[in-house]
Amino acid sequence: MDLYEHQARELFAEHGIVVPRAEVTDSPQRAREIARALGGRAVVKAQVKTGGRGKAGGVRLAADPAEAEEAARHILGMDIKGHTVGAVMIAEPCAVEQEFYVSYILDRACGGFVAIASAEGGMDIEEVAATRPEAVARIPVDPAAGVHTATAVRIADAAGLPPQTVDTLVRLWKVLVREDALLVEVNPLVRTAEGRIVALDGKITLDDNARFRQSRWGEEKPASGDAPEERAAAKGLNYVKLDGEVGVIGNGAGLVMSTLDVVAGCGARPANFLDIGGGASARVMADGLSVVLSDPDVKSVLVNVFGGITACDAVADGIVRALDEVRPTKPLVVRLDGNSADRGRALLDARAHPLVEQATTMDGAARRAARLATAAATAG
Ligand code: GDP
Ligand code: MN
Repeated sequence: MDLYEHQARELFAEHGIVVPRAEVTDSPQRAREIARALGGRAVVKAQVKTGGRGKAGGVRLAADPAEAEEAARHILGMDIKGHTVGAVMIAEPCAVEQEFYVSYILDRACGGFVAIASAEGGMDIEEVAATRPEAVARIPVDPAAGVHTATAVRIADAAGLPPQTVDTLVRLWKVLVREDALLVEVNPLVRTAEGRIVALDGKITLDDNARFRQSRWGEEKPASGDAPEERAAAKGLNYVKLDGEVGVIGNGAGLVMSTLDVVAGCGARPANFLDIGGGASARVMADGLSVVLSDPDVKSVLVNVFGGITACDAVADGIVRALDEVRPTKPLVVRLDGNSADRGRALLDARAHPLVEQATTMDGAARRAARLATAAATAG
């Protein structure tokens, strides 16, 4: 689970990392009062679980409380990469002298953690990493040893960060360990005109497997944004967004993964992974289909279900329901096999939706879905 910036800020503060004074609100009038309490000038920041807020206009500097109110009014409700802004953080502005990038992230490839740091942090860090990788230091961190002063000094040296950042690097590692995080990132970590080191932004991804001992975030309401990831999370679906154009829905992680491979083998790219699980109900199928169809990148959808515990007629019932609820404008290819496949196919035949076609094999279904996606892409 990702935390909001203001939640990350709270954790940083608890671990002794310096953060600007700030408060969160969903009311422009309240934003004005907070700015006044902070001394007048304020930074108004969209609270959404995605990066690039600055470039999207979701971070604004206000010269006085009235401007803070105006900025909050502008930012609240804004759509940033499919995430609707429901709250803003009003922060005390900071005289930035230099911006750094620092993070610790679980690196599955190396089977450990890695510290990533750069003296050229800020909004263009992706570009820096892509065009001048030598400006970004990557130092493996032994999870058993952790980050103490000596390691932090090595990280700071490798990245060209000033020695004053060493303390923050040590504390940031403590945040990762104590909070069971897979990622802690500060971009920018800044040096102010007065020489203080301040975390101006924060991103934390918690390990969901450790939820049971991190109950404090457990009651969080599911996000209600429009992005397919958020819609899927709100409905408790096992969904992963990918970067292709064929939406994929199946039952069982193994079947869905092999469906992704078959789609790729047909020269198309899957737009997502969505496993509706064993024993999936009509409701789950309808929810899954509505999530996949809501993804603007999806050009066609492939539903591949092998009925075991799941009965294909329940799946077909869910598809029929979703067709009525979602009113799709994209073609669907459905392959039903196994338990109650005949009844499932008959249900879909009876519905005779113009955008739905059936296939009898997984390969045939994938080929057809790939072709439909390509046709839709070339048609614009
Ligand atoms: P992001 O674009 O989603 O990563 O949002 P950030 O919180 O990183 O804000 C974007 C940029 O706004 C930062 O890289 C800073 O350059 C700038 N910024 C944010 N807060 C302040 C501040 O208090 N003072 C100044 N001068 N710049 C700020
Ligand atoms: Mn940032």
